[in-house]
Amino acid sequence: MAGEPQGDCLFCKIATGDVPATVVRSTDTTVAFRDINPQAPTHVLVIPRAHYPDAGSLAAAEPLIAADVLREAAAVAAEEGVEGSGYRIVFNTGAGAGQTVFHAHAHVLAGRGLNWPPG
Ligand code: IMP
Repeated sequence: MAGEPQGDCLFCKIATGDVPATVVRSTDTTVAFRDINPQAPTHVLVIPRAHYPDAGSLAAAEPLIAADVLREAAAVAAEEGVEGSGYRIVFNTGAGAGQTVFHAHAHVLAGRGLNWPPG
């Protein structure tokens, strides 16, 4: 069923605590944890606890939880002290755009110069 945990999903297991992660924030609907392979001094992932394969399907099915993910991404930036210098929220969507984990997640990146256009 849509949103239910998937047994083979790494981020579902992080959400339940079955796989360890460096969690920086947690709410009833979201978990934020440090990326295992950081691409910037601040690199935190924000996931919904519910399983949806990408941000678009999450927003279509659960718009309030999608908003929670964005709010938590901003809260991470505030806690990391990077609001003033700027930060980037990225949702890679689809393998062609670099998505490798098919459980919706926001990357929060900051702490270095972030070029545009992105690579
Ligand atoms: P994607 O490529 O946009 O799907 O992002 C997936 C991210 O998950 C990558 O930046 C990975 O480094 C990160 N990642 C993969 N496994 C783990 C883990 O076990 N803990 C934390 N981050 C992970």
